[in-house]
Amino acid sequence: MSSLLSSSRVFALTLSFLTIQALAQEDLEHAVRKRISPQRLREFLAEVSKEPHVAGSEANERLAGYLKKQFEAHGLETELATYDVLLSYPEDAALELLKPKQRVLLSLEGERLGNVETLTREERLPWNAYSPSAEITGQVVYANFGRPEDFQTLENLGIDVRGKIVLTRYGQGYRGGKSLEAERRGAAAILFYSDPEQDGYVQGEILPKGPWGPPDHFQRGANVYDFIVPGDPLTPGWPSTDRAKRIKPEQSKILPKIPSLPLSYQDVWPVLEALQGPVVPKNWQGGLPFTYHIGPGPAELRMKVKNKLERRKIINVLGRLRGHEEPEKIVLVSSHHDAWTKGAMDDGIGTAAALELSRIFGELARHGQRPRRSLLFASWDAEEYTLTGSTEWGEEHASHLKTHAVALLNLDAYRWGKEFTGIAVPSLKPLVLQALAAVRDPLTGHPILEEWEKAALARGEKASIGILGSGSDYTVFLNHLGIPVVETMFTGVAGAYHSIYDDLSWVEKVDPGLKYVAAMSEIIAFMALRLADSEILPLDYVTYARDVLALLEELQKIHPPPSLNLSACMEAARSWEQQAMRWEANKNQPLSQKQKQCANAALMQVERKLLHEAGIPGRPWFKHLLYAPRPSYEALSLPGIREAVEAGNFKLAQEQAKILETALRRASAAQARTLYCLK
Ligand SMILES: [Zn+2]
Repeated sequence: MSSLLSSSRVFALTLSFLTIQALAQEDLEHAVRKRISPQRLREFLAEVSKEPHVAGSEANERLAGYLKKQFEAHGLETELATYDVLLSYPEDAALELLKPKQRVLLSLEGERLGNVETLTREERLPWNAYSPSAEITGQVVYANFGRPEDFQTLENLGIDVRGKIVLTRYGQGYRGGKSLEAERRGAAAILFYSDPEQDGYVQGEILPKGPWGPPDHFQRGANVYDFIVPGDPLTPGWPSTDRAKRIKPEQSKILPKIPSLPLSYQDVWPVLEALQGPVVPKNWQGGLPFTYHIGPGPAELRMKVKNKLERRKIINVLGRLRGHEEPEKIVLVSSHHDAWTKGAMDDGIGTAAALELSRIFGELARHGQRPRRSLLFASWDAEEYTLTGSTEWGEEHASHLKTHAVALLNLDAYRWGKEFTGIAVPSLKPLVLQALAAVRDPLTGHPILEEWEKAALARGEKASIGILGSGSDYTVFLNHLGIPVVETMFTGVAGAYHSIYDDLSWVEKVDPGLKYVAAMSEIIAFMALRLADSEILPLDYVTYARDVLALLEELQKIHPPPSLNLSACMEAARSWEQQAMRWEANKNQPLSQKQKQCANAALMQVERKLLHEAGIPGRPWFKHLLYAPRPSYEALSLPGIREAVEAGNFKLAQEQAKILETALRRASAAQARTLYCLK
């Protein structure tokens, strides 16, 4: 598609609004978006990011109380959903270079803050949640980004990482995936650091002059294998209610066995500089001003990690605005309120937007403009650990959600810049494009859609909505429950991600006047309203079936028969596409209230049919057959088939294809039910 907006799919959907209700709907959309105030967003953001508030802390409990009070003041029905879960906290950490020259490393973060004395030692200490405590002495090996292919390169070079401390830079995937790979290859420990090439002076001006990371900044974060199963490590697959059965931490499949620490480039500098052995392959060189070597040694480190595992209470805050016509159906607006530090960007922005939108929707409801379906503002806790709060809640309310949840809009804008990025299930892509066409770029005044397409074109790419991997709260809803999901953000600058520098002043440096936070709130408001208010749900399964068909064709081309035969899957996808096209052609005729409700209920079931109860091979919790995360959190499409093929197991791949074919036929049958509603 050259221009996404000009595609017929978008117009078809736009036209379905030009019915009797269209004008009122547009007025309402306008009224909502007009009321979004950057000034108020700033006030909310200042409040929610005023102090560090890691999950399970008193500060985060205070924040949950504040959010509940705000939702109430905005006229929402509120509820606190609490769970008792296993979290992790730092006690101490140390790092010392023993050879070739003794030197104590590991500085506390925050040298460049004006008010560093208001922070505790724990708040400034490097740590990875869930890293085991250990004291380890060993030679260092530099492993680039720590991806499987990087470890393979080391093996090809004859470098053994067994018993070594592996030094990896951040970027190119989730830290947990790196740790699991290092663990499998027998490393004794893993260090993650922020290289200036990815996050520092190579990218642009550093703090305080610019938004990029200063020499002492580092990226905290959980080191946990939640791409196997997310949520509380003690209750894999079921909710952590008071009386739930719990496994022992030693039985968990997702807790790392080797210790880890996140480091600043200032602390890694002398270590990397002391490494000898082969010079690194060309694309392994980072931004520090000397030639990198792989090692092992002579650099030798002593590292000490002292963390504690503790069961603590976490608190999801839910605010519901009851719909006037189909109150049992819910559209979820999702963000998380816990943070590693003050978390102004991650996820203060999403939290502030949820507050501002709940205020506006609440105000309109008081004036008689209540949405048709219910809006549920969900502010999750402990997202930063294992997507814990959302996962436990999703598991607890699984059957209710499978019947009643329309879609989920996720707001976790952990990188902040000016370029739009969106990931979504294909059925929601047209809705995202409509929102981007309606909302204007705050600086240029052009539709964001236009700016987005232009920026992609400048890179020689086509603008497109991506597919969902993991790393945020949408995971349980999509992968475990089959609920349509979209996540939107503006990306660009990574400079303060999971760092103590992620505060209000940083957000204001990147987005003066919070204009892009306001624009993102408009995009969310637009989509929330259409999902909550359209008479017929804006879920486009023609696009979905075509996307699936394209994925199948692409994989078939790489692995043609007889090694893999996907023709039955493709046939099922085509039949689904036909059913969906028939629905699209018929849905604009005058329909009774009963017909609409019938069709909406059928539309809501289509995505659910893409689940397989036994899950994908090796990961029973991940039930969606079309998408799953890789250990890097990167999105993996057709996961069951693709992982089998990648492992060279074509027999398993063919079995997985059969399972997918059945699911696609179920989706097609659910789609056909929309047409029975018209009879
Ligand atoms: Zn986040």
